[in-house]
Amino acid sequence: MATLSIDPRVSGRTADFVATDHRMLIDGRFVPAASGKTFPVYNPATGEILTHVPEAEAEDVNRAVLAARRAFDEGPWPRMAPSERGRILWKIADLIEQHTDEFAELESLDNGKPFAVARVADVPLTVDMFRYMAGWATKISGKTLPLSAGYDFHSYTLREPIGVVAQIIPWNFPLLMAAWKLAPALACGCTVILKLAEQTPLTGLRLAQVMDEAGVPAGAVNVLTGFGEGAGAPLAAHDLVDKVAFTGSTEVGKLIVKAAAGNLKKVTLELGGKSPAIVFPDAKIDQAVSGTASAIFFNHGQCCCAGSRLYIHEKVFDQVVEGVSNIASDIKLAPGLDPSCQMGPLVSDEQYRKVVSYIESGIAEGARVQAGGPVSGVERGYFVRPTVLTNTNPRMKVVQEEIFGPVVCAVPFGDKDVDAILKRANDTVFGLASSVWTQDLSMAHKVARGIRAGTVWVNCHNVFDASLPFGGYKQSGWGREMGEEVLNNYLETKAVTVAL
Ligand code: ADP
Repeated sequence: MATLSIDPRVSGRTADFVATDHRMLIDGRFVPAASGKTFPVYNPATGEILTHVPEAEAEDVNRAVLAARRAFDEGPWPRMAPSERGRILWKIADLIEQHTDEFAELESLDNGKPFAVARVADVPLTVDMFRYMAGWATKISGKTLPLSAGYDFHSYTLREPIGVVAQIIPWNFPLLMAAWKLAPALACGCTVILKLAEQTPLTGLRLAQVMDEAGVPAGAVNVLTGFGEGAGAPLAAHDLVDKVAFTGSTEVGKLIVKAAAGNLKKVTLELGGKSPAIVFPDAKIDQAVSGTASAIFFNHGQCCCAGSRLYIHEKVFDQVVEGVSNIASDIKLAPGLDPSCQMGPLVSDEQYRKVVSYIESGIAEGARVQAGGPVSGVERGYFVRPTVLTNTNPRMKVVQEEIFGPVVCAVPFGDKDVDAILKRANDTVFGLASSVWTQDLSMAHKVARGIRAGTVWVNCHNVFDASLPFGGYKQSGWGREMGEEVLNNYLETKAVTVAL
């Protein structure tokens, strides 16, 4: 299939992959959609079509679920020695690492993020996730339990894979989100149907090849490309699926819960956020300025944990706003593969329009633009300038709703009382992440306790590690990803009691 707009900077290998006749992985074979339908994938830096991928619909979903069901009920993956599963996960990590540049190029081309960022963040974090979970494969175990019912019993628990898992992921970190989902499920011995985001399927399709090459048996992992309604919805509703793990918007998260009700499949959700970053007057100001700027502008603000509400003590408000605004104004917008790129385009036309309309609504409601604004000045592609708004109030849409773009609302506070600051920080339906900027240890820990969110960073933001659990309070989700905790998402506990 002809590729229409491959960036001339990409390597031959990446260009060849983009140009291939893309196939989905179902039951160990690379196949087109049953209907033969495909849909276009766009280059967000130009708005042009990069390539086409299969459009999975209910029939393809059903084939993939039957394959995963068979692989779970009869296949080798859940029955394999844990060390062998660990070895295969480690091999996946090695193969991704060997192709770091290729994965980073593909991610940059498809998602729009800077190549340099994909190379130092997305790809290595993906590799780490597979290695970390490779280690867990041999360490999943139950307990022996002393019963008060009497001495003549021997009781223990078994931790068993939950079964067939449907995984639905978003477009902001396409490869990394696939790893966050696949690696723990596979370590636990589950079989998987992964649906990639329709905007960014390319690294997931390349990962499917890598997993096949690493020796994942037929049906243990199935990878689908398709839309939310056409492929995601039938997958979330399928009766032969035991569990659905979803990352995306809170709105779709609620649809997933309803879809899962038919067979009461287990559900975990990693959803939206409106994370506060709180700067106290004793913070190291340079650190707070660069840290809170990167909290919102990293990945173009397309992070569920972006620090999009910036609360700054009034004593340092002007200084911090000026510093963050200067950083915003200096950021160079360019296609992700341009070596000078500091911020690429947003992922899609839809996302571009949504973010611009939020900026416009903030201005219409009285917010003041300190940097950026609705006009990017870039001729083509879905570019939005990093934007700093002040003079907002707590009921404005820009303050309450998740924008998922490089837009921050800076709000002064004068309260000495920690409770009042916490009340403001917690005044949101979300509870995913937060950061606190202070040199006062006691204040840092008090705020860390008081914030209703799954992550608190102190004098840093957006620090991720395969060992750190990540997930949301309130409407930011159910369950945790990563760390030992994620294993709970993919395991059942069985209690065995033997009368002696
Ligand atoms: P965004 O709005 O940021 O694109 P979404 O929550 O819409 O995030 O999408 C995240 C993932 O959920 C994507 O893979 C998308 O295809 C999928 N999705 C969207 N709608 C549904 C749905 N009704 N059921 C299942 N999956 C869906």
